[in-house]
Amino acid sequence: MSKKHFGLLGYPLEHTLSKFIHGRLFEMANVNADYEIFPIDSLNSESYLKNLRTLDGFNITIPYKQAIIQFLDELDERVRICKSVNTVKNTGVSKGYTTDADGFLKSFEHGSIPLKGKVVILGAGGAARAIAYGCCVEGCEVIIVTRTNSYKKGESLVDDIKRNFDYSEISNCSISDLKGDIDIFINATPVGMYPHSDGMPVPEALLPSFGAVFDIVYNPIETKLIKAAKANGLKTITGLPMLVWQAAATQKIWNDSEFRLDDILQLIEDTEKKTRKEF
Ligand code: NAP
Repeated sequence: MSKKHFGLLGYPLEHTLSKFIHGRLFEMANVNADYEIFPIDSLNSESYLKNLRTLDGFNITIPYKQAIIQFLDELDERVRICKSVNTVKNTGVSKGYTTDADGFLKSFEHGSIPLKGKVVILGAGGAARAIAYGCCVEGCEVIIVTRTNSYKKGESLVDDIKRNFDYSEISNCSISDLKGDIDIFINATPVGMYPHSDGMPVPEALLPSFGAVFDIVYNPIETKLIKAAKANGLKTITGLPMLVWQAAATQKIWNDSEFRLDDILQLIEDTEKKTRKEF
């Protein structure tokens, strides 16, 4: 089999674990492929065409999950609903998909928290959009929370899901207006991500009103938010399992690869060990 070429587009990317994870998945699935990191600090047609169009496929992360859409030929149905792309497959035409919702739902399926009830998602970027879609698929009451200046972004996410998914149990507010008991609080912002690991996305005083906390940030493995949630006696799920599960779903799209549950759980453990050692 001739060698295939894949990669990751985003900025900044010094925190990424994707090369390691995809390398291991290629080995497991017996696919002859490499995976290159493209830290591109502004996305335009030139950078897209020069670096990415020639690959067999690529991932997109912060901050381009929405901006990439304009350069693609086709969009999967889920992308049409939530307007976020983390995976592109190039076969002459470039098609955009999102596997973030798969990763998110799998990490709940194998975590200790049922995904139900009133769920607050902090952030209205690419990852928040896919997670909001996942929560709506599961029938949760979803509240998108943003900084006051980004209220319109939250409103636009809610409008997209209401219109494209015909779902009404979703609303938005500013973080200063967040109140009442919340079953699950989800951080879908980069706050707390390496190398700015001291960041805390919500005031600690709010933690007692949460039933559980999920932090999408995967590096460090235990963010400041996760540590504070545990100290408050809350159940938690960290971001790394989602990262591995979404990568496995991406390889299904790229190469039709299937993985055994035990192998994915082992990869999650190995990636955690590697992260704790190297960062
Ligand atoms: P993005 O599209 O750039 O969106 C980031 C969002 O975070 C925006 O809504 C932004 O709001 C908000 N934000 C940033 N700083 C904030 C602050 N101090 N307070 C409140 N909101 C803030 O990025 P993304 O692609 O969604 O990625 C977000 C993070 O998730 C990254 O760290 C990424 O590595 C991680 N991620 C993890 C996984 C996983 O599998 N675990 C998957 C996808 C993404 P403003 O408009 O106000 O700036």
